[in-house]
Order: sequence, then structure tokens, then C-alpha cells
Amino acid sequence: MSVFDSPAFESHEAVHAFHDAATGLKAIIAIHSTARGPAAGGCRMWPYPSDQAAIDDALRLSRAMSYKNAVADLDLGGGKSVIIGDSRTEKTPALFEAFGAAVEAVGGRYWTAEDVGVSPADLAASRRRTRFVAGLEGHPAASGDPSPITAEGIFRGIALCVRRAMQRDLEGVTVALQGVGHVGSILAGKLHAAGARLIITDVDEAALSAVARRTGAEIVPPGAIFDVEADVFAPCAMGGAISVETLARLRPRIIAGGANNQLATPEAGQALYEKGLLYAPDYVINGGGIINVAAEIRALEAGEAFDPSWVEAKLERLMGTLDEILGRSLAEARPTHAVANEIARARIAGGRG
Ligand code: NAD
Repeated sequence: MSVFDSPAFESHEAVHAFHDAATGLKAIIAIHSTARGPAAGGCRMWPYPSDQAAIDDALRLSRAMSYKNAVADLDLGGGKSVIIGDSRTEKTPALFEAFGAAVEAVGGRYWTAEDVGVSPADLAASRRRTRFVAGLEGHPAASGDPSPITAEGIFRGIALCVRRAMQRDLEGVTVALQGVGHVGSILAGKLHAAGARLIITDVDEAALSAVARRTGAEIVPPGAIFDVEADVFAPCAMGGAISVETLARLRPRIIAGGANNQLATPEAGQALYEKGLLYAPDYVINGGGIINVAAEIRALEAGEAFDPSWVEAKLERLMGTLDEILGRSLAEARPTHAVANEIARARIAGGRG
């Protein structure tokens, strides 16, 4: 299959393949759109089974970043990079320097950051060869861990969904939370403080008991989270939590959580709509993290310090967009993810905001 035939190609502006013989680097940088500004999206290191799998993943993730950046009203386009390799055994500083040279070769049309398998220390090596790197530590523009702001956006998004679907605040509402990692554990604290009742699951026992101690949450095994009696299901673990199979079991009327790619298939989005569930589209409600990264890019470009008030203003605007999506879904009798995609595509077509 050629690059152009890949299901996620969908009018990508450019796809770059890099090979560095000295370090063994094999990387793809996919740029979906620069209509709203330089493309921004993290770098993932993964042992892909084939080059085609790496290209397909880069294209899928890059297009998703265009949508996420556009709904968050950032002056950034969408891009993503992947390094083919095992992050546990094949990482070297030289490899990430070579990756930095690859980013530099794209000439500022792509900003990289962390993603699965890539750490701030790796990016520090890349930074020796290019300035187009966000997510570093120890400088005035640094945005730090994005998880707290991601969790804050999800918390406000859940409150918004509860107000719309149940005409009440979070006091006494039951939330089934899947995954209490960086985002889920902070979200649990905020929901508990707002008076919500929590049912939590994770595959990490230590993380579970720490959150349960702090919040009084009820713990259930991972497979049981789809069967509990709750008002809200908040997926904050891996992608694909919402499938036609899990939808048949889920009882909450609201699905709102931080995980990326929650819908296992596009049909799942239609199916949950037909079941009468209110779904906060994942890339809208979890956009706090990319807003944080955008604040770092903005500060680096201007030679200024990181500005939390800019982040807060963007987060508030994002919640306004989420409210608009929920409202239009109701008024136009269409699934929320379809409305969100339409808003994103219109903003991308309209160029810089
Ligand atoms: P994390 O790795 O810290 O947490 C994920 C948690 O899910 C872990 O505790 C893990 O043990 C648990 N988990 C894995 N498989 C599970 C399963 N089958 N059942 C239950 N729990 C399971 O990651 P994170 O940073 O908290 O991110 C969570 C999700 O949010 C991811 O999908 C991520 O892509 C997305 N996201 C994160 C941010 C951010 O700022 N960190 C921003 C946007 C989106």
C-alpha cells in the first residue's frame, strides 16, 4: 500500500521519512495541516511490526492532532512523529540527537514533544540539534507535566455534561473511573472534593489503593467497571474503551473522560448516540494538555516565561466549545463526535484563528 492509499492519509500536507545510518534512526514525521500554524504533536517510539504500520500510526495521530489543536483554538496545525524501535532497549542520546536533526530539517513546520516511549531527557538530546522541541524541563518557558491541567479540563467537562444531562451539580453523582494514573488520580481528587461518589479500577493495585485511601472510592476489578451502576463513565486508561460490546453493558448516561481514542470504531460513536448516551468527545475534553504545550511553544517563540493565565483563558474557551458541541448535537439530532469533527474541519479550513 502506498502512503497516499493509507486510510488516515486524508489530505496530509507532507510525510517525511528519515534514516540515519550512524545511529540506526528510522523516523516518520507526518504533517497533516499547517493551515492554523506550525504543526504540533508528540513523538512516539514504538516497535512497529512493519514500516507501513509506523506510517499508518503517524498519519492517524497527526490528523488527530490537527483536530485537537483546532478545537482548542490554538494557532497550531497537526503533526506527529514516530521513531521505529523499542524504547526499553534501543534508546540512545545519539538516536534522539539524530531525531532532532530530522525535526530541524523540516524547517520549523513541525514542533515535537513527548508521547508514548519518549521522555523529557530524550527530548533534551533532540534539543541539541533543533529548537522546535516543547516539553523540556528547567527553563522559564517550560510547561511541566500536562496531567494537572488535562485533569482540570476533564473535571469541568464532566460537570458540564452532568448539568446538561441531569440538571444538577456533582454532589452525590456517581462516577465510574477507569484508570487512576497521572490524569485519573488527579481527576479522582477533584471529583471527591466536589462531592461525587467514586467507583475506580486500574491494573495497578498500588495506584488504586492510594486513590481509594484519599477519596473513599470503591474499587472494582478492571473487567467489572463496565457493569457498575453509575451516572458517569470516565475512561482515563488506554484507548478503545467504548465498543459496541462494552456499550451493551455500560449503564451510565454520560461518557466523559481523558483517554485518547475512546471509540473503538466509528460505529461505536453512532451506537452510543442511538442509545441516548451523552458523550464528551475525547479530543475535546482532554485538550488541556495540548493547551499547556502550546503555552510553552508560545513562550519559547516570544522569549517569555510560561503564562498560566493564557492557559486558563484557553481552557475556558475550550469548555465553551464543548458546551456548543453538546448543544448542537441536541439541536441537530447528531452524535457529538460528528459535531466536534465538523467544527474542527471548519476551523482548519478557515486557517489561523
Ligand atoms: P498513565 O499511564 O499515567 O495512566 C493510565 C492508567 O491506566 C495507569 O494507571 C494504568 O495502570 C491504567 N490502565 C492500563 N490499562 C488498564 C486497564 N485495562 N484497565 C484499567 N486501568 C488500566 O497515563 P495518563 O497520563 O494518566 O493518561 C491517561 C489517558 O489520558 C491516556 O489515554 C492518555 O493518552 C490520555 N491523555 C493524557 C494526557 C496527559 O496530560 N497526561 C493528555 C491528553 C490525553
